[in-house]
Amino acid sequence: MSDKTYQHIDLHTHSTASDGKLSPTELVTLAHQEGVEMLALTDHDTIAGLPEARQVAASLGVNLVSGCELSVAWKKIPLHMVALGFDENCPRMAAWTQRNQSVRLERGRQIADLLRKKGLPDLFDKAVAEAGQSQLGRPHFAKVMVQEGIVKDANKAFDHYLGNKKLGQIRDVWPQLEEIVPDLVTTGCELVMAHPKRYPLTVTKLKSVLQDFKAYGGSAIEVASGNERPDYVRFLERLSREFEFKASAGSDYHGPFGPWTQVGRYTQIHEQEISPIWYQW
Ligand code: AMP
Ligand code: MN
Ligand code: MN
Ligand code: MN
Repeated sequence: MSDKTYQHIDLHTHSTASDGKLSPTELVTLAHQEGVEMLALTDHDTIAGLPEARQVAASLGVNLVSGCELSVAWKKIPLHMVALGFDENCPRMAAWTQRNQSVRLERGRQIADLLRKKGLPDLFDKAVAEAGQSQLGRPHFAKVMVQEGIVKDANKAFDHYLGNKKLGQIRDVWPQLEEIVPDLVTTGCELVMAHPKRYPLTVTKLKSVLQDFKAYGGSAIEVASGNERPDYVRFLERLSREFEFKASAGSDYHGPFGPWTQVGRYTQIHEQEISPIWYQW
């Protein structure tokens, strides 16, 4: 039996507003079909998909929680933080997403230059065209690299060119945790450290991140984000108790293809051993 079970709560998903494959309408419709009753759309550095998602969610009876996955940095290490439950007209959220959107464009230029130095053609315009109305990200570069026959698939593009280790200084572009977290918590939203397993951090360093995150005003960690092993979810549940964080959970769904799980599907959590962030909604 698979250890990924379908859940009624999914607080981490993407649409075409960032690097997801489904439109907000398609995503919410699929989530509803899969039995998700509470959904957060958490696109990278944008909340542009929320109005459409909210409309469809209302018509289907899905409880939509406003969300955004913000790119941030801790001691030059890029991290992802999921903001949940904010007012969609919040000026502070608008300011941070706009800032990160310009960083994304500037960083895209830097990524293209770096790839050129490695002997590849200039892929900037094609990546921007691929992104269209979506927030430009490394997945768009990966897609163009596949189309151009430079790599076989997106995974190879990340392994050989786009992974964190390959990008060097370009990693150091996002707002510092210590400036963004205290500012956003004043708006009353919940700030969640996303997928703690996906960072190049030892357990000691991860605890150090979590300690700072807590001190700045962060309120939760994601104990399941899709594909973690069950023992890692147990470990994160223990960490959530140790740091007195609430616990969030989601699929980090990006679409029907790639290394992602289905919407509403992630490794089993143990609700009685955590303090679920969703109880308030
Ligand atoms: P960016 O937001 O531009 O930093 O790009 C990060 C995004 O790339 C993540 O949110 C994932 O959606 C995607 N990603 C990261 N690693 C991989 C991989 N190995 N294969 C495919 N997509 C990936
Ligand atoms: Mn993504
Ligand atoms: Mn992420
Ligand atoms: Mn995500």
